[in-house]
This record gives sequence, C-alpha cells and structure tokens, in this order.
Amino acid sequence: MKPNLPLAIQRWCAGILVLACLLWTPPIFAEPIGALAEREMRTLAVEFPGRMAGTDQERSAAAHLAARLTEFGYQPELEPFPARYSFHPMGASQAREHEAVSRNVVAERPGRSGRIIIVGAHYDTAVARSPAQAAAGIGGPELQGVDDNASGVGVVLELAARVAKKSPEHTIRFIAFGAEETGLLGARHTVSAMSAEERERVLLMINIDSILTGDRLYVHAGPATYAADAGHGGARDRVLALAADLGMVVATNPGLNPDYPAGTGCCSDHMAFDEAGIPVISMEATNWRLGDLDGYQQTEVSEAFPAGDTWHQAKLDRIEHLEAHLPGERLSERPAEVVRLLLAFLGEIAGVAH
Ligand SMILES: [Zn+2]
Repeated sequence: MKPNLPLAIQRWCAGILVLACLLWTPPIFAEPIGALAEREMRTLAVEFPGRMAGTDQERSAAAHLAARLTEFGYQPELEPFPARYSFHPMGASQAREHEAVSRNVVAERPGRSGRIIIVGAHYDTAVARSPAQAAAGIGGPELQGVDDNASGVGVVLELAARVAKKSPEHTIRFIAFGAEETGLLGARHTVSAMSAEERERVLLMINIDSILTGDRLYVHAGPATYAADAGHGGARDRVLALAADLGMVVATNPGLNPDYPAGTGCCSDHMAFDEAGIPVISMEATNWRLGDLDGYQQTEVSEAFPAGDTWHQAKLDRIEHLEAHLPGERLSERPAEVVRLLLAFLGEIAGVAH
C-alpha cells in the first residue's frame, strides 16, 4: 500500500529528530568561565599537598593531571627527567645532593602550520631546604601551594579543556612542569630536549605562576628576549590591550627596580625558554610597587600576611587562609579573569575559532 504522504513526512521528521538527538552532545562548557580552573586548583591543592620535586606526591599529582587531560580528550605524556637538588637534612652539618626523578605532563592540540605555542604552569610545590626552613613551615609536606601554583595549573587545564575540540592553526602544547621550585628543572628539561629546529618553530611560550595572592595581575615579556629585540614585547602589549578591551586591570612591571627592567618579569619556568631565545610572556599576580620593588611582595603587610606574601608558607598558601583573608571572591574571580584573557589571546595568536 502506498503510504500516505503526511505520515511519511511525519516519520521522516521523527527520524531526523532522533538523528539530531544522537549527534547532539551537551555543551561541555555550560558552566561559567573559570569554574573548571578554580575546581582543578582546589583539587590539586587539597588532594596533593607537598608536591615536592621527586616525591611520591609529585608523581601522584602528575598522574592526576594526566588523567584529567585524558578526560578532556588528549593523549598526555609523562616526561621524566632527573631533578637533582641540594638540601640540608635535619641534624646534618652539611647540605647533601638529593637525587630524584620528576615529570612534566604534556598534552597537545595539533595545528596545521607546524608552528607551536606552549602554555605552561608548574605543578610542584617548594621543598624545605634546611631544618630551619622546615621548622618555619616553609615548603614541606603540608604546603598546599594554592597560589604557587595550583592557581596556574587550574588555568592551564581549563584552557586545555576549552580548546580540546578546536582546530587551531598553530599547535598548542600544554605543559604542567615538575620541579620548578628546585631550579626550573622541568622547563629546562623541555627546552634542552627540543632540537634547534623545533625551538625555531615555537612562536611563544606563555607561563602562568601564582595568580591569587597578589594585589593585581601582570603580564611581562622575557628579560633576555626583550633586551635583544623590543619586538618581543608585542605579545605582552597585545595581552594588555585585550585586558583593557575586556575591562580588566592588568599591568606590567613598572621597572622601579633597576635589576628588573620595565615590562619584563623573571624567575619562573618561562626563564628557561627566554634564555634559549624563545619569545615568552609570563602572567602572575603580585605588587611591583611594594617592598624591594622586585615583584616578591604580593600585598600589603597585615596580620594575615605578615611579610606581605604567601610564597612557600604552608600556613598561608592554603585554601582556608586565602579564602578568609583575600578580598572579594578572589579564588573564583582570578582564575576566571586569566582564563578569559588568555582564551581571547590564544584565539588570536593560535588561530582558534570560538
Ligand atoms: Zn611558582
């Protein structure tokens, strides 16, 4: 029997609807910008305190980060490297060399051009290098390292999650570095493992370290590359312009201390790339107008922050302490700001359509 046409159309339409339902997957990011970064920051800090270079906790944290990246759709790799550092054991008269193995966690969204953009943050926490440091609660197994640097890792994870299904023009390589606190060892390993030809293909390295405690957000160029060619300030200036467009207050080092040239920032993993001639930008939160004007004092001295900082201090760089004493909803707002800003920037420089 010839089917009646309206019924056939109805069935056809119903079939299309079923197909549409099968193809439609719920948007991964129904949640607001920054929520994933904050959640991952809290998880890394609370579940993996004392992520010191070469320890079981650092290894567990690396495995955890790799598992998260796998869930986002990546095939992350754990890259081990020797992380040798000196420390001063309790009761010993001299410092000893400590042999350890640390790991970088690397995941990549391949592009079409052969050019590479590296987005990195260290996931390890500071080591107590002496009995005096251990007694003072500096470094050690209790240190959550929320600001330094679960905050940066959270941002890297959300950026990775948000570009996981995109087809960028340039490859975006996400790296959670191990052993930053013992001498930028993870970043140095990455740079030394790259051939000269591969280094040439890196357009930019973006580093994110400690974005919570500091009064304001900063973006800097690398001291060496910027000194060699002021054109390397272009990426920094573009981020500053984007921040202004987005209504955010972001600054760069004002250069009040001659040892720290204006517009540049030092002392985290990006330095390994900068020293190898690879252009970098570094994002951090601190206050370059306080203390020795060197970026180390993050906020005004107060009862909650006796030296105006939280670096490496187990009692201060801790969720409860930061929640209680940082203004506003800092633990939510900062990750959201940095993700929004870097997502916009990556969209431009990596050719990621949103
Ligand atoms: Zn750090």
